[in-house]
Amino acid sequence: MSTNAPSVGIVSLGCPKALVDSERILTKLRAQGYTVSPDYDGADVVIVNTCGFLDSAKAESLEAIGEAVAENGRVVVTGCMGVEEDRIRSEFPDVLSVTGPHQYEAVVGAVNEAAPPKHDPFVDLVPPEGLRLTPRHYAYLKISEGCNNRCSFCIIPHLRGDLASRPINRVLLEAEKLANAGVKELLVISQDTSAYGVDLKYQESDFRGRAVKTRFFDLARELGDLGIWIRLHYVYPYPHVDQVIPLMADGKILPYLDIPFQHASPPVLKAMRRPAHAEKTLERIRRWREICPDLAIRSTFIVGFPGETEEDFETLLDFIEDADIDRVGCFRYEPVAGAKSNDLPNPVPDDVTEERWAALMETAQAVSAARLKTKVGREIDVIIDSVDSDGATGRSVWDAPEIDGSVFLPHEDDLSPGDIVRARVAKATEYDLEADLI
Ligand code: SF4
Repeated sequence: MSTNAPSVGIVSLGCPKALVDSERILTKLRAQGYTVSPDYDGADVVIVNTCGFLDSAKAESLEAIGEAVAENGRVVVTGCMGVEEDRIRSEFPDVLSVTGPHQYEAVVGAVNEAAPPKHDPFVDLVPPEGLRLTPRHYAYLKISEGCNNRCSFCIIPHLRGDLASRPINRVLLEAEKLANAGVKELLVISQDTSAYGVDLKYQESDFRGRAVKTRFFDLARELGDLGIWIRLHYVYPYPHVDQVIPLMADGKILPYLDIPFQHASPPVLKAMRRPAHAEKTLERIRRWREICPDLAIRSTFIVGFPGETEEDFETLLDFIEDADIDRVGCFRYEPVAGAKSNDLPNPVPDDVTEERWAALMETAQAVSAARLKTKVGREIDVIIDSVDSDGATGRSVWDAPEIDGSVFLPHEDDLSPGDIVRARVAKATEYDLEADLI
């Protein structure tokens, strides 16, 4: 355990379920090196886990908050009464944060913010940014769990529930820790990134003394201030996505959007239970590219969806060409157990699905090759992923790790993973670029 670790006090009210919540919160805080204070005086911050079951329990909760505010002053409120945030804040405007039951992560985040944990690399088992399985120079940043959509081919909402966004101060603290640990590129992920914060009604939370909204645009803007590469995945082309395009044009976040369109033909999109506005989407993409000509769009599509006709499929190919989709992943439709789409009529035979898959990949390859050809001669930034005796392999701002293309820098064996270098594009193939260091 680190020396001079901050100390946390806890007042736990209510039923055994609330007590278990308190235990979980304390377990997480202890794992971060906090000590537990038996009194108000010795605590750097006090958590009050409230009960809201009966009016008498609410009165007791308010009394406990009042006592903690008077005795200590740095108070984090959570638990069942936390759902009545307005009432609590009207009586105690200075409480540091208010959250409802089971929001362990938000509580731990509020404590971290009020009394940052001390990291001692000699004795702590886990580094402050947590343990990761990705290379040191990039990391995934998960902003929410679950999904409010009900696409007919997907059982994720059934498995993971409705959208549950992480409060923005938690996400930003994690992003900051990752950047401090040397991460050069953050990949923002979720099931539906553009819906971020809808479930929390865009709730504000305190980050470094400022009130920040739990909202897609605010997240992109704040992350953009970290000074590292920020890449957005799983974004749906809702109108409010327009707002982040200027951030891309200004170089705050990468000019890259991963949008899982899945299809483009209105009848198929309808059967998939997805928004069916291919024309509007094309128009939107055109406008985005007027603002940010460098924008790369990655997407995934499904071929062989039940009822997909030859005409639907042609519409999809046209869309990929008209929208200039830079990077494409394509799945052959599979009836997943429990998915609503299994009940749809007119399944597409396997051999037709296979043919369509090959045709789509061919179209996508031609679009990708044409898009990459326009980069030849340009000066670009390249983030290095690996180096061997043949040279360095990296990625441009238009390439996410694992799924997109690469930039090869022949003979550059003096670079290290995570370096971001300037290079001039010498050659383009269907999916990759070759470049010379400047
Ligand atoms: S496909 Fe994506 S958007 Fe649709 S329900 Fe599944 S997770 Fe949600």
